[in-house]
Amino acid sequence: MPSVTDPEMRRAIADRIRFYNDLGIYDFYRRGPAQSGTFTALQTESNSEQNQEQEQDQRQEMPRARTTAAVALPQEDSPLAASSKPEANVQDPVRALQIIREDIGDCTRCKLSKQGRNQIVFGVGNPNADLMFIGEAPGADEDLKGEPFVGRAGQLLTNMIKAMGLSREEVYIANIIKCRPPGNRQPERDECETCSPFLMRQIAVVKPKAIVALGAVAARTLLAINAPMSEFRGHWYDFRGTKLAVTYHPAFLLRDPRQKKETWKDLQMVMKELALPMPAKTPE
Ligand code: URA
Repeated sequence: MPSVTDPEMRRAIADRIRFYNDLGIYDFYRRGPAQSGTFTALQTESNSEQNQEQEQDQRQEMPRARTTAAVALPQEDSPLAASSKPEANVQDPVRALQIIREDIGDCTRCKLSKQGRNQIVFGVGNPNADLMFIGEAPGADEDLKGEPFVGRAGQLLTNMIKAMGLSREEVYIANIIKCRPPGNRQPERDECETCSPFLMRQIAVVKPKAIVALGAVAARTLLAINAPMSEFRGHWYDFRGTKLAVTYHPAFLLRDPRQKKETWKDLQMVMKELALPMPAKTPE
């Protein structure tokens, strides 16, 4: 079965899938070539950017029959829409973020509350930031400190931000989920579905001009596209009216520093969009 290679077509299909996801439909079936008259469901999930890159060639030949979003994000006109949120009429973003934090409370909405998390890692940075970074989930260091991206991956993210001519304090940093999964496993779908509405509210308050999704989990969750990093990178996406770009997760860059060059290309795309001055020298 031929794979869809045209990027416009892929984006159009992704939009349609997101539309169905918003309706609560996640499983899509494609007639298998050898079984006309029946429907086959294949799930093509992978756990890390590395695996994704390796699997990509194989998947060129595979029908990507199940192209589901990792989660169903709340619709903008759902009961969680701006008008019904407690922060809706609060003008001060600091206060609005406080209200969201208070709403989360000592959250027990998902199983992570019983699986060893120390605290909720809400988000940090400028409540009026033009640029927002969204990672996957807190790790051990973040769980101890209560702040996203403070471990080794966080130090690399801080350096990436500095290379863009910005500081951590100037941007806003958050994760798809706010509690550390046991053993740093990937967040599960129910955890993302339960937690991500709070991230949506943070985004609505901060109103960044651009969002950078760090890694495949963040990209898949926000965009509802099940694609490898190689396909996510290098494009602008529309995320509810905000420009969204995807780059490698800093933890992946620690494992494969050769990809830093590629990451710098992604960050330059973002800098251009935000009209940030380009440094004369490529950062290390
Ligand atoms: N990795 C993430 O995705 N988020 C963090 O906060 C730290 C590491």
